This record gives sequence, C-alpha cells and structure tokens, in this order.
Amino acid sequence: MMVELERIKKVYSLGKVQVEALKGVSLKIDKGEYVAIVGPSGSGKSTLMNIIGLLDRPTAGSYKLNGVEVSTLSDDQLAYLRNRQIGFVFQSFNLLHRLNALANVELPMLYAKIPSRERRERALKALEIVGLSDRIYHKPNELSGGQQQRVAIARAIVMNPSFLLADEPTGNLDTASSIEIMKIFHQLNEAGTTIIMVTHEQDIANHAKRIVRLRDGLIVEDSLVSNRITY
Ligand code: ADP
Ligand code: ADP
Repeated sequence: MMVELERIKKVYSLGKVQVEALKGVSLKIDKGEYVAIVGPSGSGKSTLMNIIGLLDRPTAGSYKLNGVEVSTLSDDQLAYLRNRQIGFVFQSFNLLHRLNALANVELPMLYAKIPSRERRERALKALEIVGLSDRIYHKPNELSGGQQQRVAIARAIVMNPSFLLADEPTGNLDTASSIEIMKIFHQLNEAGTTIIMVTHEQDIANHAKRIVRLRDGLIVEDSLVSNRITY
C-alpha cells in the first residue's frame, strides 16, 4: 500500500484552546489511484494534506508510506522522503521567479545532487510531457497561469515520486486552463502516476476516480466517481 493512514488525529493547541482538526482518519491509497479529497472549509483537508505530504506530523495514529512508518522519522529523514517520494503541486504554483522553466524543473534534482547532464535530460523530458518544450527558457512571469502550473507539474514529476499531491491545483486558473491541467492529470494517471488532489470544486473532483469527503475532521464519504469526467 502506498499510503496507509490509521486513526490519524491532529490537535492544534492555541494557548489553552485545543482544536481537533482530524478526529481519527483511516485511509488507504494504492498505486495508480486518482483521489480527490473534498469537504467544506475547516473540515481538515489542509491538515490531512500536510500530514500525507510529510509537512506536518499527526498527534496520534500511524502513517505508513510504501510500508515505512513515517511518524517516528526525524525532520531530516522526512525532508529526504518528501523530495524523493512526493511531487507537490500548489494553487499558487510556487515557482522561483528568477529562474526559467527549465531551471525550476531542475531544482528538486539539484537538491537530490543529481548530475547536471541527467538533470537537464530529465527536466526536458518532464517539460515535454506537460507540453511545454517550446517554453523552456521562459521565466514564470512570461508564462500564462496554466503554463506556470504545467511547469510546476513538470517539477513535481521529475523525481519520479510515488504520488502527486495537488492542493487546489486549479484554484488560480480560468476554466480553459483548469481543463488543460485536468487533461494532464488524466494523462499522467493513465500512465500510472498516483494522484491525490484537494479541491473544493465538484467539477474538478469529478475528474478523479475516487472521492474522499471530510467533515469536521472525519471521513464521511469514500466512493468511486460514477459520472467521472475523462478526456
Ligand atoms: P480545510 O483545509 O478543510 O479548510 P483545515 O485543515 O485548514 O481545514 O482546518 C481544520 C481545523 O483546524 C479548523 O478548525 C482550523 O481552524 C484548524 N486549524 C488548521 N490549522 C491550524 C493551526 N495551524 N492552528 C490552529 N488551528 C488550526
Ligand atoms: P517551494 O514550492 O516551497 O518554493 P521549491 O520550488 O523551493 O519549493 O522546491 C521544489 C521542490 O524541492 C519541492 O518538492 C520541495 O519539497 C523541494 N525542496 C525545497 N527545498 C528543499 C530543501 N531544502 N531540501 C530538499 N528539498 C527541498
């Protein structure tokens, strides 16, 4: 099992006040799945994303990533796993504005100390997959929002991660660009990439194969998408 969460709880302490953001979430996600995590504001989506993405630790419960219990790992070990196992796609793209598309995509490989020639080859391949071979020397502000998100997707897949973790990936995009991004996700998933995506937009969630719905820190629905949108 790629992602295995068991009875995950997360409590935030604000002085004397405690907020239980996750109240015992159990969730298994297998290789090749395409999961949308949905739910109203405050239901715990970001908290769950941060835990799955190894950006935050649960207060209680077990998280196994590819069979490895990660709750007990050090911050350095988590950072190492994060860079190699998880490809992040954010609402705000999070590209470095001084660097062109190619250099942005090479960045995770630079952290991983991959030799420059291999970095270049793999970055070019990733940019080809997202259809940006003709924009590799453009800087983010010379690209449209949809194109910037495609650069971010190329950056996310270039380390061959176990899964893509996308947080409102179309939140800053118009409808046409959103569809463009959903087409790329579909194509990546068809090619075997596991995708976990948080969205509050039902139309976007309906591109996934499975919907996990949170409410008040608990999973209240976990079902296959019957009216799935495909391309
Ligand atoms: P969502 O992403 O679905 O909007 P969140 O995971 O952000 O939900 O929030 C779940 C609950 O946890 C909310 O009640 C929120 O106010 C609380 N919360 C989230 N992050 C923090 C934090 N850093 N400190 C305190 N409370 C938090
Ligand atoms: P961000 O979106 O936070 O600005 P960057 O663009 O700096 O991230 O980095 C891209 C990728 O490299 C992300 O997958 C991120 O997790 C990873 N990364 C960022 N900083 C480090 C670091 N110091 N060590 C290892 N990996 C990192």
